Amino acid sequence: MEKPFEPPGQQLAGKAPKDDGGGGKGNVDSDATSGNPYAGLVSRLRAAWLSGKTRPVKYRVGQLEALGRFLDEKKQDILEATALDMGKPPFEAEFTEILLCKNELHETLNNLSHWMKDEHTDKSLVMQLDSAFIRKDPYGVVLIIVPWNYPIYLLLAPLIGAIAAGNCAVVKPSEISKNTERLVAEVLPSYLDKDCFAVVTAGVEETTKLLENKFDYIFYTGSPSVGRIIMTAAAKHLTPVTLELGGKNPCYVSDTCDVHNVARRVVWGRFYNAGQTCIAPDYILCSVEMREKLLPALCKVITDFYGPNPRESPDFGRIVEDKQFQRVQALLHSGRVVIGGQTDEKERYIAPTVLADVLPSDPVMQEEIFGPILPVMTVASMDEAIDFINSRERPLVVYAFSSDDKVVNQVLERTSSGGFCGNDTLMHVSLTSLPFGGIGNSGLGMYHGKFSFDTFTHHRGCLHRGMGREALNALRYPPYNQQKLGIVKAASEVKRKGMCTLL
Ligand code: NAD
Repeated sequence: MEKPFEPPGQQLAGKAPKDDGGGGKGNVDSDATSGNPYAGLVSRLRAAWLSGKTRPVKYRVGQLEALGRFLDEKKQDILEATALDMGKPPFEAEFTEILLCKNELHETLNNLSHWMKDEHTDKSLVMQLDSAFIRKDPYGVVLIIVPWNYPIYLLLAPLIGAIAAGNCAVVKPSEISKNTERLVAEVLPSYLDKDCFAVVTAGVEETTKLLENKFDYIFYTGSPSVGRIIMTAAAKHLTPVTLELGGKNPCYVSDTCDVHNVARRVVWGRFYNAGQTCIAPDYILCSVEMREKLLPALCKVITDFYGPNPRESPDFGRIVEDKQFQRVQALLHSGRVVIGGQTDEKERYIAPTVLADVLPSDPVMQEEIFGPILPVMTVASMDEAIDFINSRERPLVVYAFSSDDKVVNQVLERTSSGGFCGNDTLMHVSLTSLPFGGIGNSGLGMYHGKFSFDTFTHHRGCLHRGMGREALNALRYPPYNQQKLGIVKAASEVKRKGMCTLL
């Protein structure tokens, strides 16, 4: 039996108390029966969901509009927090943390009542007077776990989908982007209905506890290794998951290209947010001839974009924390530094760096770089590039540059990845009309725009029949005979189109 619903008396945000038997410390309730510090929170949200409160379109619109007000009123705080966390340039913060969220929000608000409608479907002959439809049901209480690199966008974009679909939600920001985490925990709950939405601040230990609870859906964005931990925890409750993961995104540059345009588009995508972008082009594959043209073009563009000393550029970010800094810095020892390579540990600065003479076995080619380093590897042909891509884990995105559409299409057709972008980088993510997600090692499931609504929606197949016309039903009841079977088949068979039969 569910416990009667008690509205929470305080903002639902905070670290789980380490040893809190009675829920008196911190601001996450404890559940005496299970001993799990988050059990009380989850069961309160589930009670609110079961009350039906989140279902009306008016309620959903109200909460979504409140998210819009959060973005408008706290824009400056968001820019400051992301600047403190990773030196995110205001332009980049406004584009990715604010504008992309607003686009998701507006796309959702413009279409929500239409998306929510029952979808009536085809029916067999005997059901022509009945109603067959897909009901867009919310899952219930969902958990959204967020990484640090786009700490607002990667929190709000899935939350918009969860609210739109009529769910209650617990969001867990990354503890690594600590200034943004604090802002979200302190401010976001005051915009949302606290009965239904909670921010939980948690490190690994507390998140492990949080994951012991039964959620109705888990939406996780982060690394593939932690993705496995999340999926294992979800499996205990048979909870469905979306996993938005990372990996190494190849960027093939063919011999027929406008080299300077390629250099601008690749440099922008690689060094945006100091390279800490899951869809950044991770490495270039090109011929030796193209490499000779591309390397000077990349060097020129880096100087054009960030000046002779990128450390002084207001448009170039910093690595988020010391551990990440050490990890990325170690990757500078692969191959030969063509430009960049400078570091400053105190500032967590790593210059925009291009590496040549890189081998597939080098450390920089063994893990997702997630920092401002661009290795250039040579291949003998497009076929070799495609074989190289296909011999590795499936990436989140494949990039291909060529003035010849046939080459771009060949790379698209002969590789497999979460998404694809020809002749540009990152921009495919800005379209709310495209599904966004990985495949294989880069993830499971998709979102953005209508795909977010669908992700957080259970598509419930419903048939509602009339009580009469029992004579028709009698044909399917025992005692069976061949004549009944013939009629049942004729009335309910799905026929192949274009296959002409006498019946
Ligand atoms: P991460 O996997 O370390 O952390 C992500 C979240 O998981 C954080 O909230 C963290 O607190 C939590 N977490 C970490 N370890 C955990 C554990 N053992 N148990 C439970 N929860 C745990 O990832 P990150 O370093 O924050 O982000 C970088 C990774 O995320 C990269 O691989 C990047 O490609 C990927 N990413 C993917 C997308 C996408 O949309 N596909 C977007 C951004 C980042």
